[in-house]
Amino acid sequence: MTAQELRRMYVEFFKERGHCEIASASLLPDNDPTVLFTTAGMHPLVPYLLGESHPQGKRLTNVQKCIRTCDIDEVGDDTHLTFFEMLGNWSLGDYFKEESVSLSFEFLTTVLHIPVERLAVTVFSGDDIVARDDETAKMWKTKGLSDSQIFFYGREENWWGPAGVTGPCGPDTEIFYDMGKESCSEDCGPACHCGKYVEIWNNVFMEYNKNSDGSYEPLHNKNVDTGMGMERVLTILNGKNNVYDTELFIPVMNKLKSLTDISYSDENKRDFRIICEHSRAITFILGDPKRITPSNTEQGYILRRLIRRTIRLIKKHGFPDNILCDLVNVIIQQYKDVYKELGENQNFILDQIEKESCLFRKTLDSGLKKAERYFALLEKDELLSGELAFRLYDTFGFPIEFTMELADERGVRVDITNFEQRFKEHQEKSRQGAEGKFKGGLADASIQTARLHTATHLLNGALRKVLGDS
Ligand code: ATP
Ligand code: MG
Ligand code: MG
Ligand code: MG
Repeated sequence: MTAQELRRMYVEFFKERGHCEIASASLLPDNDPTVLFTTAGMHPLVPYLLGESHPQGKRLTNVQKCIRTCDIDEVGDDTHLTFFEMLGNWSLGDYFKEESVSLSFEFLTTVLHIPVERLAVTVFSGDDIVARDDETAKMWKTKGLSDSQIFFYGREENWWGPAGVTGPCGPDTEIFYDMGKESCSEDCGPACHCGKYVEIWNNVFMEYNKNSDGSYEPLHNKNVDTGMGMERVLTILNGKNNVYDTELFIPVMNKLKSLTDISYSDENKRDFRIICEHSRAITFILGDPKRITPSNTEQGYILRRLIRRTIRLIKKHGFPDNILCDLVNVIIQQYKDVYKELGENQNFILDQIEKESCLFRKTLDSGLKKAERYFALLEKDELLSGELAFRLYDTFGFPIEFTMELADERGVRVDITNFEQRFKEHQEKSRQGAEGKFKGGLADASIQTARLHTATHLLNGALRKVLGDS
């Protein structure tokens, strides 16, 4: 099965069942100010999920480009990407749980021919506020899933709510593919993330409105919002165990491998994967019709961070300096028939990468040397002061997460709170000096993402949901 076959099969299946195909929206959201990028197919649909009527009807489907910076630390594993394509279908006050489960089940088993034994699902286990979702569990059973394939979890895993305190929310049911590995323990299940179960699809049932007093009232218009990971499903359908072994990454990985004598061994694998994955994300961000450029704020900062991280890894393994453009070119050629904007913006994409690479390469060497000197003075687990981390940012253009990653590789850490303080002082000063020069500053996006970086480790799934993943 090719990626294009999978995209078309999905959309055609839902079109045949009354859904209207909507265009893939920009990676920069119009309708949802709570996120920097479109992280799921539902973002462009927020007003309609809140009740506005959609011009194309109550049943919608599409393939949506997504960026999830909150998954950046996972990149390099078998299934998490910063850029991915989400296949989605929606019911805006039309069908609900039963039809949604039936549609998903039918698509997986009769169109994709996934054996029912390889599926596992999770369902909301209920709490003292909202009851257990027995209705959905029962539906999965009638489809032929046995009790051992149905797992009940709480809010952490099976509840979807908006970033704000109030608004539409509800339980979800997630669909996993059993990779056939041994169970990791007696309690092994989708939530233990041991690699046995890969999440492929999430069906969210928006059936409540959360009020400001914390109570939940049933919504008049119940919606269904689903999202399936295209890369993950393609991996499974082709009998692979990681996304890099699919047609989506083979060309760029081969290009990378052809430029070095270093082997794609356990030791280098993660870095090779990150280089390929980030190259693809960079291509799609720069190729977006809304045209953003590397900068110190918001989306531009994320782009800068991805490019600089990739350049550092390219350097770390001794690849030729300019290979990022070569890799990006491979990706443009591969995707431009499906995503026309990549071909149309080819010159812009390559030009921006060239500019940002030149800018960063000027200070990278001296910055790395300086960083090494700082780290050499620290014992294991000791903190690099915010003052020095700030110097690496201010003098050498090292994004804070980048310094954190270098520190991590050396077994030390960075004093983020102190860095933030230094940053704020610096912002204040520059505001007093040249009004507007640092307006908005790197700071906001940088500190937000650095916080996210630390917090995701601590709070994992729960926090991700609050920050805007669906
Ligand atoms: P995971 O638990 O694996 O991080 P998720 O629960 O955060 O996934 P959802 O927000 O439910 O994912 O998104 C819907 C679908 O999109 C998932 O079921 C998965 O198939 C796909 N998906 C989510 N995050 C990624 C990612 N970082 N890379 C590739 N596919 C993803
Ligand atoms: Mg996730
Ligand atoms: Mg999940
Ligand atoms: Mg999910």
